[in-house]
Amino acid sequence: MSLTFDLQRRPDPTSDERRTEILADPGFGVHFTDHMATATWTRDAGWHDARVHAYGPVSLMPSAAVLHYAQEVFEGLKAYRHEDGSVWSFRPEANAERMQRSARRLALPELATEDFLASLEALVQVDQAWVPAAGTGETSLYLRPFMYASEAFLGVRPAAEVTYSVIASPAGAYFAGGLQPVTLWVSEHYARAGAGGTGAAKTGGNYASSLAGQLEGIEHGCDQAVFLDSATHTYIEELGGMNLFFVTDDGRLVTPELTGTILEGVTRGSILELAKDLGLTPQERRIEIAEWKDGVRDGSIREVFACGTAAVVTPVGALRWEGGEAPSTAGEQGGEVTRSLRAALLDLQYGRAEDTHGWLTRL
Ligand code: PMP
Repeated sequence: MSLTFDLQRRPDPTSDERRTEILADPGFGVHFTDHMATATWTRDAGWHDARVHAYGPVSLMPSAAVLHYAQEVFEGLKAYRHEDGSVWSFRPEANAERMQRSARRLALPELATEDFLASLEALVQVDQAWVPAAGTGETSLYLRPFMYASEAFLGVRPAAEVTYSVIASPAGAYFAGGLQPVTLWVSEHYARAGAGGTGAAKTGGNYASSLAGQLEGIEHGCDQAVFLDSATHTYIEELGGMNLFFVTDDGRLVTPELTGTILEGVTRGSILELAKDLGLTPQERRIEIAEWKDGVRDGSIREVFACGTAAVVTPVGALRWEGGEAPSTAGEQGGEVTRSLRAALLDLQYGRAEDTHGWLTRL
């Protein structure tokens, strides 16, 4: 049976004045809407008690399993307002399915796609006014579904009580520098994920394990870290929160193949499709870090960019590592393919291009 999210409207919502002020400069991940959606799962009763209620602190026992054993998964997608005022999400079924795959890996219960979609619809309906107006640049309402082991129990086993929630946060551009290319650090000592581990799941532990490499990069004046395969430190995997693409001199658009340690980005999958529309040949294969270092010097790699829901498509500039640097091919604003793909994706998401792939869902 599918879930119906019962609306328990907040009695003290944010004033129109304050909300307008926030939407004028939302930043990323700092402000949250008035409501959230929640559902509970127990081993005995399955999913139940679905509701939309006031956004606010969560009450957990200090013994809640998630705080000790990190049994949790999450998702990230956006709601976009179109010119006619309607609100849409981009391939939300792909996020629902990825959350199911993540949940399986973390021994959490699966939430059916229709229930995932219903939770987004219910929250966006009640917090409509928080979706930034069309034509205000790259603004949207970022949606963060997440699921965690809320059972108060210290034994190590899959929790018998799990909580699912969705919160929403108005978002401006992810990187303060806008389209400015980001400089990347090669994390040679710290890996983000290993074979047989949780790299392909969207689970907090992967992000926790990426932070030390990220910090090392920042200490070396870089914006983000690139993670390599943990076994040989040879092959490029991804960034802490984005997938990577390379444009080669023979018209290919290359991205690391999914080996089980890389997160299968919805943006990555969409770009592989859009590449064909732009006359490029998409290719998923293993790419050595040496190929990047050499390729930007000898011209066989023309452009490098990173992609993900939050930052869309971001040009990558210089690559640094312990004792070396490969130059940027991105110029001031990224290369031609990077900019075309970015524009194609944004035009679709904001309803400025025809949705020929059937990727938009009205919320
Ligand atoms: N890799 C990682 C590790 C991520 O966290 C994300 C963001 N979800 C991505 C790639 C890009 O995925 P998507 O395009 O679905 O946002």
